Amino acid sequence: MTDFPHADVLDHYREVMTQLEAAVAASGRAPDSVSLVAVSKTHPAERMVPLLDVGHRLFGENRVQEAQGKWPDLKIRYPDIRLHLIGPLQTNKVREAVALFDVIETVDRPKLAKALAQAMRDLGRSLDVYVQVNTGAEPQKAGILPDQADAFIEECRTVWGLRVVGLMCIPPAEEDPEPHFALLADMAARHGLAEISMGMSADYPQAIRQGATHVRVGTAIFGKR
Ligand SMILES: *Cc1c(COP(=O)(O)O)cnc(C)c1O
Repeated sequence: MTDFPHADVLDHYREVMTQLEAAVAASGRAPDSVSLVAVSKTHPAERMVPLLDVGHRLFGENRVQEAQGKWPDLKIRYPDIRLHLIGPLQTNKVREAVALFDVIETVDRPKLAKALAQAMRDLGRSLDVYVQVNTGAEPQKAGILPDQADAFIEECRTVWGLRVVGLMCIPPAEEDPEPHFALLADMAARHGLAEISMGMSADYPQAIRQGATHVRVGTAIFGKR
């Protein structure tokens, strides 16, 4: 009992889209103001095909190596796929990440910002990036600490020349996520950042109420990992 049957992926996808649209409408936001990032980590490439065949193109992966094994072939068949890296990025994987992904959501330290800027120059690719904020200041979690985020966002832009377009967070598992979502939305507004990536299977409607522009949903579409 680890997976939904193949055909059910599409049913679950449609159910998530319905809930997403309902939350967008209930918040009085524009119908196209929230995008669903389908989080496909640990699931094999063929489970993506039903979604691709109904026109879904936006996916999230948390490991560079896994994504490299899965997406290049699919990108040949569906060239307009857009891939977001949503997991921690080691500096020794930066070149591979820049070559494969369209958006890096997890920029969280100067060393990584510098390596990304260098790899984009070397590869002639210019990716949108988000800064990941550790809103709960959890010691084990990736992301820049909230009290360092303002300065880090500016550093990414002015020192490293990165195209910072948004912020991303993963609230502490045991807490009410709403204050974390609100903090991230405030910070994005303060910096004039249009994109806010927050909300997962358990809490994406709340994230939408707090202003998410991207929700990252895995389990509710593809089943347990
Ligand atoms: C796995 C993952 C998700 C999706 O989580 P679900 O609870 O399966 O929807 C979202 N964001 C990040 C950063 C993840 O690693």
